[in-house]
Amino acid sequence: MAGSREIAVKQSIPQHLRYSFEDFNRQFPDNDACLEHIKEQRWPNGITYCETCKADKKHHRVTGRTAYACETCGWHIYPLAGTILEKTTTSLRTWFYAMYLMGSTRCGISAKQIQRETSVTYKTAWRMFKQIRSLLSEDFQVETAVEMDETYFGGRPRFRQRRQAGVKSTTGRPGPDDPQKTPIIGIVERKGRVIAKATRDVKAETLMGMVSEHILPESTIYTDEFRSYAGIEKLGQGYHHKRVHHSAKVYVMGDAHTNSVEGFWSLIKRGIGGVYHAVSQEYLQTYLDEYTYRYNRRDQGNLIFMSILAEVSRRARQDGQASPQTESA
Ligand SMILES: [Zn+2]
Repeated sequence: MAGSREIAVKQSIPQHLRYSFEDFNRQFPDNDACLEHIKEQRWPNGITYCETCKADKKHHRVTGRTAYACETCGWHIYPLAGTILEKTTTSLRTWFYAMYLMGSTRCGISAKQIQRETSVTYKTAWRMFKQIRSLLSEDFQVETAVEMDETYFGGRPRFRQRRQAGVKSTTGRPGPDDPQKTPIIGIVERKGRVIAKATRDVKAETLMGMVSEHILPESTIYTDEFRSYAGIEKLGQGYHHKRVHHSAKVYVMGDAHTNSVEGFWSLIKRGIGGVYHAVSQEYLQTYLDEYTYRYNRRDQGNLIFMSILAEVSRRARQDGQASPQTESA
């Protein structure tokens, strides 16, 4: 827990945004406290109504089950129903701890680490993180001053080395000789939020589709000179397009730079490259979702954990709120 990276992060977080491992232990000492927390998220005023009695009823916790029962008819309500925790056989506290770890590091956390610290197997840890990541995708539009850029993930080492060496030209983009490479499109508001999407290609049609979908009209969009961006102003919508000429080694010219998005690229490459040694194309988007989720809440300190935890209830299936069929084993 006390690696040098974590200590460095702690020092930079203001007091009121800190949430230490001691805080975690105090708030969630056992599985019951975790279940109670989920219940309070889903029923902030408590479970006050019984669907079977059709009346306001008190409910009490059922010992040995993840359920609360109506005091009159005994009908069970399962707070975990419809959530990613519904059918788990792993303890709730381990799940909460996984979310805590995910929310407390800047560069991500590996399944290996939680495997070392808890009793779960690597496979279980990997599945937990996958499920938690599934809660972190977001849908919004960015505006005003926006940088847009592409990068590539995976592919043959030869191409990776060239990119790491700073070779950034059309020849560094994927061709038929390197089909393993997955393009990632990044759209970053200056000093604001980021959107990152794994895409099939970087054709003009694909990039213009992303502009229309994710950037509000009237925004100024900064890109490099890659030709697929050429049609931005032709989209109408009042978009302004400013280009940075990387090939001419002009990286910063007045406000025409793409430093914000490049900062984000280095963050995810350090993170995904360092923590998740092999990310398959299939799951790349969920890793991007994890990184963007944290990046977009970087002013929350390690209270990001609380945001992740809130997603468990927020993204629960609405049909799962009181179903006797969803009892966990
Ligand atoms: Zn009842």
